[in-house]
Amino acid sequence: MAENTGILWTDNTWNPWQGCHKVSPGCMNCYMYRDKNRYGQDPATVIRSKPATFNLPLKWKEPAKVFICSWSDFFIEEADPDARIMQTGWALSLKEQCASAGTPFFMKQMSAGAPIPKELQGQEFPR
Ligand code: SF4
Repeated sequence: MAENTGILWTDNTWNPWQGCHKVSPGCMNCYMYRDKNRYGQDPATVIRSKPATFNLPLKWKEPAKVFICSWSDFFIEEADPDARIMQTGWALSLKEQCASAGTPFFMKQMSAGAPIPKELQGQEFPR
């Protein structure tokens, strides 16, 4: 049951910090920049969220799917101008490892706006 989001594929969102720096052509249409600008906020300023938001998961008692950092990027190292281009084989290996371990596999995007290959279009959820 969604607690604080209208996003269909997750139960909750959690943004322990917000903001990000555009570092590659893939950031050109960043929705976080669009939304922050719409709200009159500076998307390029990275800030820690207020304590009520930062500590929000401490209140959650039931298992849930959580979209973390919808207004920033945890893995920005791989988005810089020198980032490696996502290879299909890397994700296929992860998909196979997930299947072997009984772990859901959820593929959200490739790098540089490339389409997700058909064999990677899994969007599974924990039970
Ligand atoms: S790395 Fe992600 S969150 Fe950060 S500016 Fe680029 S698209 Fe936006």
